[in-house]
Amino acid sequence: MQEFFGLKVTGKPDAETLKIMKRPRCGVPDVSSFTITEGNPKWNKKNLTYSIENYTPDLAWEDVDDAVRKAFKVWSDVSPLTFTKITKGEADIKISFNYGDHYDNSPFDGPNGILAHAFQPGPGIGGDAHFDEEEKWTKDHTNYNLYHVAAHEFGHSLGLGHSSDIGALMYPSYGFSDLNNIQLSQDDIDGIQFIYGPSNNPDQPTGSRTPQACDKKLTFDAITTVRGEKIFFKDRFYLRKSPYEPEAEVNLISVFWPSLPNGIEAAHEVREKDIIRFFKDDKFWVATAQNVFPGYPRDIYRTFGFPRTVKKIDATVSEEYTGKTYFFVGKNYWRYDERKRSMDAGYPKPIINDFPGIGSKVDAVVNDNDFFYFFRGTRQYKFDLQAKRVIAVMKTNSWFNCGAY
Ligand code: ZN
Ligand code: CA
Ligand code: ZN
Repeated sequence: MQEFFGLKVTGKPDAETLKIMKRPRCGVPDVSSFTITEGNPKWNKKNLTYSIENYTPDLAWEDVDDAVRKAFKVWSDVSPLTFTKITKGEADIKISFNYGDHYDNSPFDGPNGILAHAFQPGPGIGGDAHFDEEEKWTKDHTNYNLYHVAAHEFGHSLGLGHSSDIGALMYPSYGFSDLNNIQLSQDDIDGIQFIYGPSNNPDQPTGSRTPQACDKKLTFDAITTVRGEKIFFKDRFYLRKSPYEPEAEVNLISVFWPSLPNGIEAAHEVREKDIIRFFKDDKFWVATAQNVFPGYPRDIYRTFGFPRTVKKIDATVSEEYTGKTYFFVGKNYWRYDERKRSMDAGYPKPIINDFPGIGSKVDAVVNDNDFFYFFRGTRQYKFDLQAKRVIAVMKTNSWFNCGAY
């Protein structure tokens, strides 16, 4: 897993604060899990300078400048700090690309493994961020995106250690999530504000909250089966309950499917084709297991025959034996024939006609042993397709081994 995720992004300074803790236990809300570097080193001024000492040949100079500027902005947006680039004199935070042993007692290790490291606030080498020149630095979702790694390293340059919150930028493994706009978790914001105080911004920024599998208020955006397992989507995250693990796994969508967007709205698996389709707005992506096919996203109109009035899909599920795929859109649903590759005649129909008891709009739906499980808000409805009725109502997280409430 470590290999696949990327790496351990850590150097000497944060090795001391590195604490890979066990995931917070089920049902404990809002676990604050940021750490600060031992001794709480910090800058005693708000306006900091940085310099770019050398450039990687992997990217154009302006792309490096851009990645660095945006990476600092991630932190200036949520704190009273400002960052100014200088080209003369000694900057507080010096950025450089280095090969192997570069004489700071933290040699780089060639491709992968350690990507970068940064030093805690202080004079001289303090605050400096070094990037392993033997990595391939990118500005897209391929490994390794400089903007993402830089934003994480600058967290160390400011005095933050690693977080155990998997949604946090300061989580120790590389987790790419968005090309243009890194979303901090509330944990990152709590961490930086613990050191430097609140942002001067009149609208205090808020961060994302990593879903907790046993949160009673948990709702989902989309759910699909994938080769016998269920994957639940929520914002930037997916949750997955493996039969071999007692607790649900929570991870970033981008770790598994780097080219998918965040905020997937609907998803289904077509088993006989061994594909998963993901929907967001009027676009969809197709994947086999982890591999998203090239040439996507495509729009939903030409492939499925939706009218242009349909702007997004709320929920979708495919039925293995009939080869029918259902799409839930507002109060109506559509049925698509996977074998004929066309929408069945007579649709859309009102949900309430054929799926009584589940309400008039759904968040997500998934099939399991010929039952459809509809999710709406914090409720889940087990629907018997033969009897055409709801046979059980449950909490949304009944799949996660949360124990009785
Ligand atoms: Zn780190
Ligand atoms: Ca390396
Ligand atoms: Zn170094």
